[in-house]
Amino acid sequence: MPNHKKKRPSWDNYFLKLAMLVSERATCPRMHCGCVLVREKRILSTGYNGSVPGDVHCEDEGCLVIDNHCQRTIHAEMNAVLQCSIHGVSTEGATAYVTNMPCTNCSKALIGAGIKEVVVFSEYHDTLAETFFSIAGVELRRIKMPKKSIDYDLKSYSSAQKKKKN
Ligand SMILES: [Zn+2]
Ligand SMILES: [Zn+2]
Repeated sequence: MPNHKKKRPSWDNYFLKLAMLVSERATCPRMHCGCVLVREKRILSTGYNGSVPGDVHCEDEGCLVIDNHCQRTIHAEMNAVLQCSIHGVSTEGATAYVTNMPCTNCSKALIGAGIKEVVVFSEYHDTLAETFFSIAGVELRRIKMPKKSIDYDLKSYSSAQKKKKN
């Protein structure tokens, strides 16, 4: 069996790892969150927490904290749903892969958007997400954080080498 077979990630790990990658674009130092919306194993959209278009970034100008929450950013889950609205893509019945437990507002937005399942690997402070998910019948799964390294071994891919002229 080729070696890469063993390293192939599960669907859950694949989408959550993508959410981690997406979170690298986040602009609030209090939280880097990434979200990937998926239906039938296909990505609908991605989102990370960032300022509204035109606003300064928390990492440059400091956070805008009220009641222990930074108010400056649109959260990752919301941005993922909003991206679907911009593109006219239905989120009905989709799964949200999020790096952390959604906040109360995002959990309600995900429910309102018809999300049926949420997969996370870490927590969030002061959130009623679990309560609302349970009321709405949204399945919540916690899995282990996917590994942070990327398996991309360019040197070993023979097809990526220029053929030697004979
Ligand atoms: Zn902030
Ligand atoms: Zn949120």
